[in-house]
Amino acid sequence: MKTKEQLTPEQQRICLEQGTELPFSGKLLQQQGLGLYRCLLCNSRLFVSDTKFDAGCGWPSFYQPVSEQAIRYLDDYSLSRHRTEIRCGHCDSHLGHVFDDGPPPTGLRFCVNSVSLIFENQESGEIIEG
Ligand SMILES: [Zn+2]
Repeated sequence: MKTKEQLTPEQQRICLEQGTELPFSGKLLQQQGLGLYRCLLCNSRLFVSDTKFDAGCGWPSFYQPVSEQAIRYLDDYSLSRHRTEIRCGHCDSHLGHVFDDGPPPTGLRFCVNSVSLIFENQESGEIIEG
């Protein structure tokens, strides 16, 4: 588990203070490799590359988490409308939001800050912090 002191100001702003990275800025947005997306803070498994899709919204998007327990859901009424915030089910780090305009089979779009994620490439073993 990373401590607050180990995080950059941008990582703190997003993961601990529910911030949002600029669209199209994330290192993992265009990531196409086969592998696993983990939580930056606690390394828990969150998403697999098979469920990643290009939503055109500027943030890494997935249609399904690795398990029901992987994600915690909270109502978010900021920006004067209702959204569903998603956090790491293990450590509560802010990930992004989930919307109901995703592709089959779930119809969901888990819209995640690249900064909140670590990608582990299962073929090369490379590990990339978002
Ligand atoms: Zn976590």
